[in-house]
Amino acid sequence: MPPTGLPPYDETNIFARILRGEIPSRRAYEDEFAVAFHDINPQAPVHVLVIPRGAYVSIADFSASASEAEIVGFWRAVGHVAKELGLEAQGYRALTNMGPQGGQEVPHFHVHLFGGRPLGRMIG
Ligand code: IMP
Repeated sequence: MPPTGLPPYDETNIFARILRGEIPSRRAYEDEFAVAFHDINPQAPVHVLVIPRGAYVSIADFSASASEAEIVGFWRAVGHVAKELGLEAQGYRALTNMGPQGGQEVPHFHVHLFGGRPLGRMIG
């Protein structure tokens, strides 16, 4: 259950359905803590989403509610995916959107990994 002030987790969100295998995804990686799949609308030559297996709405929910094992496991998976996709040598961007002003569309915590071209300076 998310901390007070955050919306409850919606089991019907599209990433929950991908996790349950109800919707296909192009998987890049999966382990005990995380699943990574290619974004359906890529914004860079490589654009992968990494999500925890646990039901967390956003980074706020994940940071406050996930166990230490889940947090460590998830972030290790993010680094592993970036490395496996060959992004480490040239660099990449890891980004998460949170809430309405952060531009979050899917209410299951996810980290975007962008790479494969110069990404320029961070946008606001
Ligand atoms: P957000 O704005 O940070 O929530 O990003 C959601 C991302 O999910 C967007 O980049 C979408 O293109 C992506 N997305 C939405 N539906 C799917 C899907 O079914 N498969 C893969 N990516 C998806």
